[in-house]
Amino acid sequence: MRIGNLADSLLSGLDQAAEAAGRWFEPTVRLGVTGLSGAGKTVFITALVASLLRRGRMRDLAPETEGRILGAMLSPQPDPTIPRFPYEAHLAALTAPNPRWPSSTRSVSQLRVSFRYRPRAYMALSGAGRLHLDIVDFPGEWLADLALLDRDYESWAAEALATAERPGRHAQAETWRSALAAVDPSAPHEELVAEALAAAYAGYLAACRKEGMAALAPGRFLMPGDLAGSPALTFAPLPKPEAPGRDSLYAELRRRYDAYRKAVVQPFFQDHFAALDRQVVLVDVLGALAAGPRALGDLAEGMESTLAAFRHGASSWLDRLLGNHRIDRLLFLASKADHLHHEQHAALTHMAEALLAEAADRAAFHGAETRAMAVAAVRATAEQTVTRDGARLALVRGRHLETGRDVAVHPGALPDDPRALLATARDPEGAGTWPDADFARVPFAPPAWGPRAEDGPPHIRLDRALNFLIGDKLD
Ligand code: GDP
Repeated sequence: MRIGNLADSLLSGLDQAAEAAGRWFEPTVRLGVTGLSGAGKTVFITALVASLLRRGRMRDLAPETEGRILGAMLSPQPDPTIPRFPYEAHLAALTAPNPRWPSSTRSVSQLRVSFRYRPRAYMALSGAGRLHLDIVDFPGEWLADLALLDRDYESWAAEALATAERPGRHAQAETWRSALAAVDPSAPHEELVAEALAAAYAGYLAACRKEGMAALAPGRFLMPGDLAGSPALTFAPLPKPEAPGRDSLYAELRRRYDAYRKAVVQPFFQDHFAALDRQVVLVDVLGALAAGPRALGDLAEGMESTLAAFRHGASSWLDRLLGNHRIDRLLFLASKADHLHHEQHAALTHMAEALLAEAADRAAFHGAETRAMAVAAVRATAEQTVTRDGARLALVRGRHLETGRDVAVHPGALPDDPRALLATARDPEGAGTWPDADFARVPFAPPAWGPRAEDGPPHIRLDRALNFLIGDKLD
């Protein structure tokens, strides 16, 4: 190689190193987005990215209204081992001539949006600022597994068996209970028996989930991701026999439980969760209201265990596992607020705030700034007021997803003070009253949202949510 060429290639190597180092040091915010299946993660992320790329509807995102965002674009994501969030496919569904909701989150995925912005204290020399926003989407079901990490099989199984006897779960556990009664935990392990038991246990968890219950573990039984059908998921709780032999069903399922914790749960928390800076938790509060007091009570419990997952610092084993990095902002979003007229948004926000405050109290959560808001990532309804029999009714109107017909829904009255509802949710057998929340079940079709160059999707408070999540990072 000639000296000149050598120097050139050295220089270009140095350039690349400098560029890589630059990239390394470029400020990055890792934003986790989670929530139980159906809470609205996929729609939220798709709308959020579309709204960042076309910011015509981002009036409450301060750096945008101050004219300091110079550009935003999708960039290749830095981690080649995580699937990319299929933004384009989801956007295509939402913006099709006959718009469809995108298919939901089933596993972990990631997307990077990069910004160029003018810092607030702009000095010509310092130039434009750069920020990468890495959005990490993961099923909320997986968070429940954090509680398994410091529990051995015996104590987990004992608690799972006891929980299944609770009044609200007895019926759902019926099939699994008869499968369990037919096996002898100290008998030699047989694969088909283990498989049948695991399937029956997964069926029980799915039935609980259908009733709106949260905090169901193992989370991968409900949302297996890429582990569907894998032996890592063929275990279930068993009562401990007197002296289980090495080859017994009990010993084998205990080994699998341990393997699940080590090979599935631990890497997820270490690789994806530990590095998050900010977190959004989407909560379908209206859906839980429609499902009844027990579902809301379970949702509250789920929020508590979610908060516990973000609280680390209070437990040394979790600290050792996840390191010192902390999320510093946590946003709970009551999703699908477009099912309500805006006059009731405050009541929904109060509900979400009360749930958050209660969960934070019980989980002794501290350290991160928390907030609760009511949002619609994609607003599928318009508002209307009519007078009927002399009474004024505030309605929302939209296209029914299944019939395609225009429907008007009167959301009834959400109580302004959510404490009574939460008390009823804690004591579902008590004498508390419950609002009729059937309106939350009406499946609205996504709106026709023309691809005007400057507009993201119509939404409710998505810009305020974003301002809390990244506004300060663009200062
Ligand atoms: P995920 O399972 O958490 O990813 O949930 P999705 O984002 O797929 O949302 C589940 C369903 O909730 C969607 O298919 C829509 O029917 C509905 N949905 C989600 N977000 C909104 C919203 O902002 N407004 C309305 N009206 N419906 C929504």
